[in-house]
Amino acid sequence: MEDAYGHRISYLRVSVTDRCNERCRYCMPEEEQAWFPKEEVLGYDEMLRVLRVGARLGIRKVRVTGGEPLTRPGVADFCARVSAIPGIEHLGISTNGTLLAKTEGGLTLAEHLARAGVRAANISLDSLDRAAYQRATSRDLLPRVIEGVEAALAAGIPSLRLNCVLMKNQTEREIPALMEYARSKGALLRFIELMPVSTSDVLRDENFLSAGHALRLVEREHGPLAPLPDFKTNGPATYYQVRATGQKIGFIGAMTNLHFCESCDKLRLTSDGKLRPCLGSWLEFDLRSVLRAGCTDEELEGFILGVVARKPKEHDFRNNYQPNRKMIAIGG
Ligand code: SAM
Ligand code: SF4
Repeated sequence: MEDAYGHRISYLRVSVTDRCNERCRYCMPEEEQAWFPKEEVLGYDEMLRVLRVGARLGIRKVRVTGGEPLTRPGVADFCARVSAIPGIEHLGISTNGTLLAKTEGGLTLAEHLARAGVRAANISLDSLDRAAYQRATSRDLLPRVIEGVEAALAAGIPSLRLNCVLMKNQTEREIPALMEYARSKGALLRFIELMPVSTSDVLRDENFLSAGHALRLVEREHGPLAPLPDFKTNGPATYYQVRATGQKIGFIGAMTNLHFCESCDKLRLTSDGKLRPCLGSWLEFDLRSVLRAGCTDEELEGFILGVVARKPKEHDFRNNYQPNRKMIAIGG
């Protein structure tokens, strides 16, 4: 599938729930949430149908996300069924990590996911300081995340990435510990620029720390980093390497990198069944109604191709963007 701007679409982010057990400042700071009513949330079978048709159209990579995907019962079984779809070559999950070490039927959730074919786990980790972690997420769950990372390593999930959202006057002091921790665990550390995805209020000068600034802070400790233009994961991160240790660090500069959208290959399916061609655009298309009206697979194909055809050239974040949905309601 190719859009009007030459983006070749091969990646679908599937949000399985808008619910979450944390309350990150930049994502969902309010304690009380109006979750989607259950009947508005797609069932796994509905998501799998979209994925099967998507795979026929060229979707090769899938990332299961949320909200916190591990709060939805049955997510590992769902992952196993996604892995089994002909054409799907790579399956990853985005999680806050707090539930990876939880056991079900004698196995950790991380083990269930590894057995289900999950090849990559992106774990959000803004701080290794318990009090700072609690301030960032409104939950005292850092020990559970650390257990979760261990569980993911023990389960043998092949690729582990630690994602830190850059916050001014906070992340600066976290960088050395996060780098050392990621290195010691063999995980890729990535720094993500704050985006106005839940509320535009969060993206204020006093909160914003650019990827470029973070890179300079890393260089202050480790000397000039070597760019790795050919190193790619399945996302928009730009990677650099610490020359002395070989450690790779990713920077996701959605706000400051003017070329950010050029290599975009994604669509997003929200847990309430909207297909979105871009995280930073108001455009969304009601796939659930079409599915529940009893569409044929050919009609579903036509719908997906229509959304691809409307994919914008780039996100709208730099144009006083006012989000129409929270990140939890889109899927990160
Ligand atoms: N709950 C899971 C987690 O925290 O990884 C998956 C969903 S979360 C919405 C996906 C990613 O979006 C996380 O890495 C999170 O840090 C990031 N995120 C949330 N709000 C953001 C914002 N305002 N700006 C940048 N990244 C954000
Ligand atoms: Fe929950 Fe993830 Fe959003 Fe934090 S970033 S509130 S863990 S969905």
